[in-house]
Amino acid sequence: MGKQIIKRTKLDIAKHPEGLEGPGFFATKLESVIGLARANSLWPLPFATSCCGIEFMATMASNYDLARFGSERLSFSPRQADMLMVMGTIAKKMGPTLRQVYEQMAEPRWVLSVGACASSGGIFDTYSVLQGIDRIIPVDVYVPGCPPRPEQIIEGLMKIQELAKNESLRRRDSEEYKKLMNSYGME
Ligand code: SF4
Repeated sequence: MGKQIIKRTKLDIAKHPEGLEGPGFFATKLESVIGLARANSLWPLPFATSCCGIEFMATMASNYDLARFGSERLSFSPRQADMLMVMGTIAKKMGPTLRQVYEQMAEPRWVLSVGACASSGGIFDTYSVLQGIDRIIPVDVYVPGCPPRPEQIIEGLMKIQELAKNESLRRRDSEEYKKLMNSYGME
């Protein structure tokens, strides 16, 4: 029997934030360190209602491996999730439930709208389908496509990572953010 050859994969580790470096020390802003930790440990709540959810399953599986981004830990409890991923057609009847799930998530929270249906109602321009989830909750990143491929979902997640990494710790207390929440009738 020949020897089994184990291929080693080169792993890219998260880059450290900008800072001052010298022999034996590295100094940076607390905000940057928190941003780095948040960006690389986003816990998704998959709100999947139809076909786009199947693409998400592929995104989670070994080929695309969402775990590379620190997001393999799905949360079906809003209280332990910080990234709401809405995937699929959202009927108007389901709107209040989606909103309740969003409201139960602790700050900071981000929303990824995956696919044409979640983002705009898609091909379902009918009386019963919500024409975009941003009518009831604020959306941070939209992923186009019907359905979007896993690569696109990953790109959307990476954009949320950028937002999380660069967000000021004061943003959620800012007047601008309060105004955004108020525009959705939330505190
Ligand atoms: S965008 Fe297309 S693939 Fe996604 S849920 Fe709607 S119809 Fe299905």
